[in-house]
Amino acid sequence: MNEHRALDRSRALAIEDWFRANARDLPWRAARSAYAGLVSESMLQQTQVARVVERFTQFMARFPTVHDLAAADEQEVLAIWQGLGYYRRARHLHQAAKAIVEEHDGVIPADINALRALPGVGRYTAGAIASIIYHRPEPIVDGNVYRVLARLDAQNKPASDAEAQRWGWSRASELVQLARDPGAFNEGMMELGATICTPRAPACSDCPVRAGCRAHADGRADVIPPPKQRAAVEAR
Ligand code: SF4
Repeated sequence: MNEHRALDRSRALAIEDWFRANARDLPWRAARSAYAGLVSESMLQQTQVARVVERFTQFMARFPTVHDLAAADEQEVLAIWQGLGYYRRARHLHQAAKAIVEEHDGVIPADINALRALPGVGRYTAGAIASIIYHRPEPIVDGNVYRVLARLDAQNKPASDAEAQRWGWSRASELVQLARDPGAFNEGMMELGATICTPRAPACSDCPVRAGCRAHADGRADVIPPPKQRAAVEAR
């Protein structure tokens, strides 16, 4: 194993171990089912964890299985979704439940391409379900994960940059393949970005991967990644 790969392996294992010791107690983690994963990931797109917790519990009490959701009236699904906003997600989730019942015998698929074929399931949500529920080495990248990756390697491009996104998915893929449990690694990256490696004033002294973090070593943790560049305004 070369030096770079060995560093990545030690990062992946450190993040997994840290996650197991520090995971927040969230209701979908306790449920540990593909259906709970699908519902929670749909709700978490563009909504903060604290707001999702209460609504997730109500949603699961009313629609405890994918069959219950598939058979529900759309207006009732939208009513339970109330407060989370972005109702298109609720419609997509309802359509996905119908597709899972009709095309997959009610079993949420593990294959990344089959997941991505479901309504409203993008690359991130598919990777989250495949890795967290089915333990497949599929990457996930959102704003939190990109920030951690960028700081670890001192990648100095904003998350909005298309090339930086390609780089982020590629690095996330390399790292998740070195993890013992891809789901614990991916959840650890999300959790690290949300609680320790925050956009401003990251708590590097509490970070499990600070020893191999280039941004921390360079004293540039709080300026990487840079914000999205505004289009230059021409002076007149
Ligand atoms: Fe983020 Fe600091 Fe950890 Fe580096 S050492 S990953 S900058 S929290």
